[in-house]
Amino acid sequence: MDTRPLGIFGGTFDPIHYGHLRPAQEVLGALSLDEIRFIPTAQPPHRPAPEASPNQRLHMLRLALADFPRFTADDREIRRGGSSYTVLTLESLRVEVGERPVCLILGLDAFLGLETWHRWREIPDLAHLVVLTRPGWVLDELPPWAHGRHCADGGSLARSSAGRLFFLAVKPQNISATGIRAALARGETVQDLLPQAVQGFICQNHLYSHLNLRT
Ligand code: ATP
Repeated sequence: MDTRPLGIFGGTFDPIHYGHLRPAQEVLGALSLDEIRFIPTAQPPHRPAPEASPNQRLHMLRLALADFPRFTADDREIRRGGSSYTVLTLESLRVEVGERPVCLILGLDAFLGLETWHRWREIPDLAHLVVLTRPGWVLDELPPWAHGRHCADGGSLARSSAGRLFFLAVKPQNISATGIRAALARGETVQDLLPQAVQGFICQNHLYSHLNLRT
């Protein structure tokens, strides 16, 4: 059995930015993962439809990941279509990877909303949860369901296939896709916030330049 944990990073990626990529690099190092699969949502269940189409978001993701040999794009949610429920994605991955440890990587903002997700109680039994700190978000206390799962040693995630909860304090990246879309709509530069190839694609396809500034 391959016991090296597999990292899974889901998101809207509208667009992918360094607030995703840099913390993901820290996860690779901290947990000795050999791969992180980025999985763009088709339709996120809890928010308005993304501005860019699924194929545009997938294309931007592939452009961004080209510079990161251990990062791969996984288009299963886009192929599946409809609402992208993480529980279904993890179930389909489990069929492929068997008992291999799977680490579901999510920012603290996403973790704080976990209990609203479809069949959320099943999620911690399908993967370890690796929660990244994110500027502006604070965890006041651990929810009761998480008490027996919390672990302080990232190395222990390789010793079981799922079920643990690990918090990783990453270097703060004060970047959000919402902020990037708003800056582009105002005609501002977003140079240091996302890879150049992604900026080029956004520019060529006139993405985000005339959207209404919703949050
Ligand atoms: P939006 O502003 O449109 O909500 P976003 O920037 O939060 O987008 P998503 O694609 O929704 O990006 O996020 C995917 C995952 O990445 C989520 O788990 C989110 O918490 C995490 N994430 C995004 N940006 C950061 C960041 N700057 N630091 C840490 N985690 C982040």
